[in-house]
Amino acid sequence: MKVSIPKSDIEDIMKEYNCTQEEATSAYLAARKKAEDIFKKSVEQDLQSKENSSPKEGPKVYTPRELKKYLDGYVVGQEEYKRRICIAASYHFAVIKFLKENPEQKRIKRFRKKNTIIAGPSGSGKTYCVEVLGDILQVPTLTVDATDYTEAGYVGKSADDMIRELIDMAPGFSRKEQAEFIAQNGGIIFVDEIDKKAKDGALAGHDISREGFQRSVLKLIERKLIPIDNPNSPMSQIQELMERQQGQKNEKKDNMISTENILFILGGSFQRRIESLESLVKKRLTGDARLERENELILEGFGSKTNSLEDKEKYKNYYKYAETRDYIRFGLIPELVGRVPIRTFVNLLSKNDLIRIMEETEDSILSQYKLEFELFDIDLEVSKDAIDYIAQEAENKKTGARALVSVWENILTDFQFELPGSNFRKLKIDRLLCEKPKDYLLKILEKSPFVDFLENFRREYGVELVLDEEIEKYVEAKASEMDLQISATLKKLLSPAAALNYINMGSPYKVTQEMLEDEKYFDKLFIEWHKSQREAEENEE
Ligand code: ADP
Repeated sequence: MKVSIPKSDIEDIMKEYNCTQEEATSAYLAARKKAEDIFKKSVEQDLQSKENSSPKEGPKVYTPRELKKYLDGYVVGQEEYKRRICIAASYHFAVIKFLKENPEQKRIKRFRKKNTIIAGPSGSGKTYCVEVLGDILQVPTLTVDATDYTEAGYVGKSADDMIRELIDMAPGFSRKEQAEFIAQNGGIIFVDEIDKKAKDGALAGHDISREGFQRSVLKLIERKLIPIDNPNSPMSQIQELMERQQGQKNEKKDNMISTENILFILGGSFQRRIESLESLVKKRLTGDARLERENELILEGFGSKTNSLEDKEKYKNYYKYAETRDYIRFGLIPELVGRVPIRTFVNLLSKNDLIRIMEETEDSILSQYKLEFELFDIDLEVSKDAIDYIAQEAENKKTGARALVSVWENILTDFQFELPGSNFRKLKIDRLLCEKPKDYLLKILEKSPFVDFLENFRREYGVELVLDEEIEKYVEAKASEMDLQISATLKKLLSPAAALNYINMGSPYKVTQEMLEDEKYFDKLFIEWHKSQREAEENEE
């Protein structure tokens, strides 16, 4: 291949690097070859990503069974919900594909979407299921919190913004292409906390805006055309002004997206201090003699502590029996409930479910912690009794599986800080460690909890506390009396001593038993000091 080389370039190189014409030419050709390679690679990459994001293919169609099998790997229990949502998603995207491939078809005029409402306790997998579904379906899937949005015209994000946020998630080179992807292939929007937008007779003013929001969602569900750019954004307003000046009519259908192919899932716990969905269902059902006779329900509901296995067997979920009228009574507008034909529920997660979530799921929290420690060459082993303890602690918090992470983090946080970079290669987590993690850590680090506390106190407040043997014994006795770790007991007894940072009583500061026995000792000290300061100031004046 003939290559023409600009003479001036070669002369520039010769001048700049003080080299011969031959050297300059070969350097020029090598650099040019490198530049060509980079250019080619970049073009290839761009074209490839265009291919991947090409709207023509669209998502693969899965059967409900295939989707459910995938979900089962991640979501423990919640069989009814998983089945319902897999059916909804599978058929939704299959119909979209059919309509796309057969634009002239006359078999269905209006395709009725399988919009779904899901009710059940927090932290039990309502959102998670949808997120996992989005992963396998590879369709833009947006989860929003209804409380972040208002009816259009009010302050805050409008319901229409949800559609624009979904567009943000779609592949494509431009906003138009992204919107086209959604229009062609569909997407999923999960609106969480829809119950917080229910009408509530007690809140007259708020009620109007809540109802307004529900109406906005209803419009979205009913195939509304939405501008793909926010009409209130400065960019859109300038554009509109220019178009108006140029006398163009403002009918830009190509800048609009139809919500037709978007599957909506509305979720919430539907709990409220007065008249929760559960209590409404319960009230209705207790009047129903047939159900009572069949003893299908125990009437204490979710809050009840059922101890015996037999009771647990009988334990039933009220959400399961919720009907259109219950949702309307709760405060959803009838038109919205009518447009969401599939209603399903999740169960409160039991301790056993929490154990399965930790141990059995594809992205289990246990394998995550194992990996994290492995990255610092530490082998993590977790005993059965530790798992049991953590599940129990999480269950007590009553926030579903969400509590698992916080319980784990509370136990592991000091280990996560101290162990990487130390000589420890193995950490065995058992019940004892879970109950008193800090003391356990200090023990394996061969550090006294007293020394550790005093060091931290000095770093935090600049005061050196002195604890003699008698005081140490007193703290140890207190710790066993309160069933606390020594480190936690020290924190509890001596946190008020932080006041010394302000009072400036001199350091080192000897702690006496009298100070520890009186919870208010340091508070009183601080108040007295503050008073004397004020008096001194007044005297000066
Ligand atoms: P909500 O029901 O309030 O929507 P989420 O689905 O957001 O609760 O659950 C919070 C987290 O708890 C999820 O991200 C997931 O890690 C975990 N989780 C909740 N329920 C389950 C479940 N049934 N199986 C596995 N993990 C779960």
